[in-house]
Amino acid sequence: MPSDFETIARELIEIGHLFHQRGWVPATSGNFSARLDDGSLAITASGRHKGRLDLEDILHTDADGNTDELQRPSDESLLHILLYHRLPEINAVLHPHTVNATLLSRLHQTHLSLQDYELLKTFAGIDSHDCQVRVPIFANDQDIARLANRVDRYIDANPDLVGFLIQGHGFYTWGESIDEAIRHVEAFEFMFECEMRLLSVRSS
Ligand SMILES: [Zn+2]
Repeated sequence: MPSDFETIARELIEIGHLFHQRGWVPATSGNFSARLDDGSLAITASGRHKGRLDLEDILHTDADGNTDELQRPSDESLLHILLYHRLPEINAVLHPHTVNATLLSRLHQTHLSLQDYELLKTFAGIDSHDCQVRVPIFANDQDIARLANRVDRYIDANPDLVGFLIQGHGFYTWGESIDEAIRHVEAFEFMFECEMRLLSVRSS
């Protein structure tokens, strides 16, 4: 990971453009962050259009999300902070609101099982399609501290978690680097789209 804030901030801006073009962050939704070598965070400001991010839309905060800047970080920064705290090996957290993730999280109740996809090998520690990745679905909650608490407890029992869905909302995934986190978003979104298409083929 590069260690200077501006380089990392520019990478987050680029992710905003990329995800916006793909329709993954509609109407100012979604948020992104990265952890610098000194433990501080670069995180998107609240309410910004992700396709039009500028340097001032990326905030530099301490490890707990505190900043001297006037803008406040995304409301969901508590989830990013929790993930960095619980998963010391990760350095980037990405949260898109994709159509497929939103729909799947409404069609399934507690979790989604992904299996027999070649792209499962994108995730560290998985070297075959012949396995199952369980993606938990958390109930949506405007009380982010309460939601973060539920994710925290889930990680206690599932320390190898690679991502999660929030009902009717979107998904979170992360990586040891920004590039790895982008790969995980792309892999999840590809498999979510396959799952949606499978559901519509089966019901027709
Ligand atoms: Zn969100």
